[in-house]
Amino acid sequence: MNVSVVLFTADLRLHDHPPLRAASEADEVVPLFVRDRGVTDAGFAAPNRLAFLADCLHDLDAGLRDRGGRLIMRSGDVVDEVCKVAAETDAGEVHMAGDVSAYAHLREQRLRRALESQGRRLHVHDTVTTAVTPGEVTPASTDHFAVFTPYLRQWSRVPLRDAFAAPRTVRVPDGVGSEKLLSRSGLTGLSEGLASGGETEGRRRMSAWLRSGIAAYEDRHDDLAGDATSRLSPHLHFGTLSPVELVHRARRAGGPGAEAFVRQIAWRDFHRQVLAARPAASTSDYRTKHDRWRSGREAREDTEAWKEGRTGYPVVDAAMRQLRHEGWMHNRGRLLTASFLTKTLYVDWREGARHFLEFLVDGDIANNQMNWQWMAGTGTDSRPNRVLNPVTQGKRYDPDGAYVRRWVPELAEIEGPLVHEPWKLQGLDRAAVGDYPDPIIELPDGLARFKQARGLD
Ligand SMILES: Cc1cc2nc3c(=O)[nH]c(=O)nc-3n(C[C@H](O)[C@H](O)[C@H](O)COP(=O)(O)OP(=O)(O)OC[C@H]3O[C@@H](n4cnc5c(N)ncnc54)[C@H](O)[C@@H]3O)c2cc1C
Repeated sequence: MNVSVVLFTADLRLHDHPPLRAASEADEVVPLFVRDRGVTDAGFAAPNRLAFLADCLHDLDAGLRDRGGRLIMRSGDVVDEVCKVAAETDAGEVHMAGDVSAYAHLREQRLRRALESQGRRLHVHDTVTTAVTPGEVTPASTDHFAVFTPYLRQWSRVPLRDAFAAPRTVRVPDGVGSEKLLSRSGLTGLSEGLASGGETEGRRRMSAWLRSGIAAYEDRHDDLAGDATSRLSPHLHFGTLSPVELVHRARRAGGPGAEAFVRQIAWRDFHRQVLAARPAASTSDYRTKHDRWRSGREAREDTEAWKEGRTGYPVVDAAMRQLRHEGWMHNRGRLLTASFLTKTLYVDWREGARHFLEFLVDGDIANNQMNWQWMAGTGTDSRPNRVLNPVTQGKRYDPDGAYVRRWVPELAEIEGPLVHEPWKLQGLDRAAVGDYPDPIIELPDGLARFKQARGLD
């Protein structure tokens, strides 16, 4: 009997899974998930993501059981645990997906060395967590694209491999010990409106989106109250959906909505190829502007107000409250709250990125850190000093104010777009806003400080 191990990481699915497909050529397969101590120690295991992960693991186990197998779970150092399982089952090969962070690179190197010292081989598969492999398309002169438009042009020309069906059967060797799967129960600090995870749920959402959401995406993706984006981000983050399959199916749906949607998947790959080439960008400025971000008591108080959704700018506060309540935030909200923190309040992007990662169920090093840097003007944005005005943004992307009324109950009685400028209310309307705070900063003051800091005045 020859045996292969499949190490699941950010690819918790059975459909379109190249490592599982390759491992299935062996007589028996060990589908393994390691609850990696390194991830927990790095503080990345936020409750919302742990809960979603628990759903994913249970669903993966159920899918494997339907096919005659089961999921093996272990906890500890990922390299030690994989080596132990490979030794217990005398597996000749281990298959896993490639990934982009510095941590993932190191894990891969350590694992390869450790397995080789036992006489086993590690196979790392591309196009599992991205549609196009980082580094597959590059500009003539350097190792990655720093500008999205030329990246998109080349990315769009890459022929994608076909998507693979889920295996019909998975034969797991007898007697391999597994811990009890991670469970939602016992987790505290979860967002009330947290989505459910798992491949079954991901595929259901993907089908519904392709059937009835994607066509209007181009027109409606910025409509804050309309909530008309796919909400597939946690499924892409945990890999319960395959980006290759999603792009194929979106392209088959066709039309301007699908085109705009596929472009967003290309943004995801874009940030991944930047991080793969510059792993330090998860913590350091990609293009420094030599910012001396505010610190001290006032900056801390402003940051707290931002985190709590009490800045006095309704659309900022609505988005920050959505984040806490759902563990998810609309992209337009992410953009304008990030601009507000880094530019209007001139607080370090790392503060904001950390807070997002505490709550986001789709919290992802590449997408989160690179988008934060983009908005802070230290990343790949070609207009690094643009500042989003929260009042203008609110009026444009929440024209009737419904998004603000949904998330800021203090303002629920204020009708129409006036909800974006509660300080202009008078009489009874003014009384109706209760203890909703006055703005913590005047926008022209914030702008002047930012311009001065960046030497723009
Ligand atoms: C400050 C900031 C932080 C962010 N942090 C994260 C994060 O931690 N994890 C994350 O997945 N996305 C992050 N994004 C990107 C984006 O906001 C989310 O991917 C999107 O809102 C998820 O909702 P959706 O699935 O409905 O997106 P849709 O609009 O339906 O887009 C489809 C998919 O495309 C990808 N995508 C969309 N927009 C972007 C983008 N700007 N950059 C990269 N990929 C994109 C996502 O995988 C998304 O699921 C961040 C954006 C900003 C501005």
